[in-house]
Amino acid sequence: MKSFGGINALNGVSFEVSPGTITGLIGPNGAGKSTTFDVITGMITPETGTVTFAGTDVTGRPPHAIAECGLVRTFQSAKEFKNMTVIENLMIAPGGQSGETVWRSVVPSSRSEVRSEEDELFDRACDMLEFFEIEHLALESAGNLSGGQRKLLELARALMLDPELLLLDEPFAGVNPSLEDQLLDRIETLRDQGYTFLLVEHDIDLIMEYCNAVIVMHQGETLFRGSPEEVKSEREVVEAYLGGEVWHSVWKSYCPVWDLNQTSGMKEQNDKFLFSAGHHPLIVAFCDSPSWQHKFTRSRHSNQRTFVV
Ligand code: ADP
Ligand code: MG
Repeated sequence: MKSFGGINALNGVSFEVSPGTITGLIGPNGAGKSTTFDVITGMITPETGTVTFAGTDVTGRPPHAIAECGLVRTFQSAKEFKNMTVIENLMIAPGGQSGETVWRSVVPSSRSEVRSEEDELFDRACDMLEFFEIEHLALESAGNLSGGQRKLLELARALMLDPELLLLDEPFAGVNPSLEDQLLDRIETLRDQGYTFLLVEHDIDLIMEYCNAVIVMHQGETLFRGSPEEVKSEREVVEAYLGGEVWHSVWKSYCPVWDLNQTSGMKEQNDKFLFSAGHHPLIVAFCDSPSWQHKFTRSRHSNQRTFVV
């Protein structure tokens, strides 16, 4: 549990992340996803509850100690040093999250005899640039990067700490589709190499396609954990999102049942429904209002089925 000024931000969060997976953490704004990351990575200490990493209780340890264990996060908004070059940003990353030197391990190099830590850092930073195909940006000021390039740098910086588990908080926000594909491709490659990811992401298509497991949070609580397919069909999850924000409508477009009577903001919901109906082959809606029923029935496309009950 974690509360801010008497309000529970987290209460009843319980889940596991299996090694070697990409696990999605989803839920509406304010559900407590970022706070969960804060607790896991030691940025804030929970009032009750424990965080266990690879069998070790790490609750309440300072962030640098947790990063040293191999548990590293990226932030919802990137935290690079704008006046430094990309390669400098990478090289200082092992100290960057903690304010002290965290140097868990170095890449073994056949060229190495006795090498200074800085040489090792430089080699590793170059490997990162190559892996993310941003060698050409090595000497660019981080402040000049596009939003998407900054996200690549953010992930590369996290990897500089040689983590086992990476927590990514909305890593694709503001990233153009081709860079997003590139990021996803790298994340999958890393997953296949044995890295583990816990991913906060609002794009349900993406979650469904790339995640091995999904955890759903709502109002500071974990509602459900399962495969993407299981989560999709869970009625409780559907209900938790009724009457919510725009993002929920995207979620709802995946749900076979949508109770319109429980939604609020008629005009807005109406538009959302039409959007959903146009994007999903099967939508069943429960609805009392005859005028709505008329509209929704008309929204039916020839190759799609919309039932209004
Ligand atoms: P999410 O990342 O799922 O959108 P957050 O974890 O950011 O949600 O927030 C969960 C809840 O905790 C929200 O109600 C938010 O306002 C509150 N909260 C988060 N951080 C703080 C803080 N530092 N001080 C006060 N309230 C906070
Ligand atoms: Mg957040």
